[in-house]
Amino acid sequence: MLYFIVSLIPLFVFSRITSDTLKQYFKDTKEKEFLNQANIIAGSIQKGNYLTDKIKDRLFENEIDEKSNEEAVRILVLDDKGVVVKDSNKTEVGKVYAMPEVISALDGNDAANLRDDEGVIYATAYIEDNNSKKIGVVLLVASFEEFNQLLNEVNSKWFIFTLGICIIVACIVFFTTQVFIGPLKDILKVIQKITDGQLHQRIEVSGRDEYSQISEAFNNMTEQLESIESSRQEFVSNVSHELKTPLSSIKVLSESILLQEEMPVEMYREFFQDINSEVDRMTNIVNDLLELVKLDHKEAGLNIKETDINNMTEDILKRLYPLAEKKDIKLLYESNKDMIIEGDEVKLTLAISNLIENGIKYTPNGGTVKVIIDGDHQNCFITVSDTGIGISEEEQSKVFKRFYRVDKTRDRETGGTGLGLAITHSSVILHNGSIKINSKENEGATFIVRLPIKYSES
Ligand code: ADP
Repeated sequence: MLYFIVSLIPLFVFSRITSDTLKQYFKDTKEKEFLNQANIIAGSIQKGNYLTDKIKDRLFENEIDEKSNEEAVRILVLDDKGVVVKDSNKTEVGKVYAMPEVISALDGNDAANLRDDEGVIYATAYIEDNNSKKIGVVLLVASFEEFNQLLNEVNSKWFIFTLGICIIVACIVFFTTQVFIGPLKDILKVIQKITDGQLHQRIEVSGRDEYSQISEAFNNMTEQLESIESSRQEFVSNVSHELKTPLSSIKVLSESILLQEEMPVEMYREFFQDINSEVDRMTNIVNDLLELVKLDHKEAGLNIKETDINNMTEDILKRLYPLAEKKDIKLLYESNKDMIIEGDEVKLTLAISNLIENGIKYTPNGGTVKVIIDGDHQNCFITVSDTGIGISEEEQSKVFKRFYRVDKTRDRETGGTGLGLAITHSSVILHNGSIKINSKENEGATFIVRLPIKYSES
């Protein structure tokens, strides 16, 4: 509504200005026209020597009457003292006219003046003798009433016309703002609700215009927000659950110790060993969580350096040989190419260690875990394959989620936190790389990590 009123103001002002300009234009034209007539009459009086030659008085009188009828104006002729010599109405002869227009004409300045208050227009022109002496004045008097009426009529019609235009323009402005601003208001309402925490809110999308595209993009963004929020909640509940399990075990174990009056030392030792392994488990979870938090904060930055992938892998394997030996697992290494890439060695070591450790963990005794290094001119490929239990196709997309485990019971036995692959995934993604699984249940698993040789900040 405000736009409607605001748009009326300039149009209304425009209407007033044009109306005043029109009035002024009519006034000026009329004044010029009368002045011209006065000059013509003065010229003919001067030419005929009517003022000085008394013999021509009759002719003079006729000329004045004729001209007055022709032009529909009253004509007065005054002498150099301002005394009326001739009057087409015959009523003012002998009277003195000392009005400003007459004085100005006797001074040599013809004048035309429209007197709004009297509704009359006066025009004067001086008459000269042969020696250029001002000997008289022609005064034209015409009623302006009729003209004023016409002008007012034109003005009121003009006003109605511009008012009509104003209303039409205002309506157009009003409806177009409704069309353009209406959808924005809807978007704003939904944004407000989302800000208040109602993440399930969506903007209604209809059509294919720019607003619909914005609404669609906004809805997608809100969906993302909602999924981030729900995964955050899921993560918090997972963390609480993961920490609660070892805490409950510690509680049960310590209560058992307290309740037993006289317990053999071996039993104490056994109970404390269990408590100790639960504390280890909690420490592992907390360490992995801290590692993930570090990887989540991109701004914490990677310590990018030239990293020799072959050396790095050999170091990891050296550390893991004892673990593999315990399960009688063959840990094989094959390097098809010397690869030096730009990367953060610490984070990459963590990522590859997790894959090899998993290979050992999920491969039954006597199996094999093999690491192959290869590459082309753009990427380095690290393949970790095992002859273990494998991962079904259905589970493959889920194993990178935090705390996700295929078989929860067995993982508690293996001591896994469910965070290892999430850490590996985050670290590889931070290096702009990718990770792929090839596996079938009970047929072993192969993880292929691709890392770009040149690191570029995305
Ligand atoms: P965890 O600490 O439990 O090993 P991860 O995040 O490393 O957690 O792995 C997630 C799950 O993926 C594991 O619990 C396991 O079920 C499955 N998994 C990971 N690596 C392998 C593998 N090499 N073979 C079979 N299953 C695997």
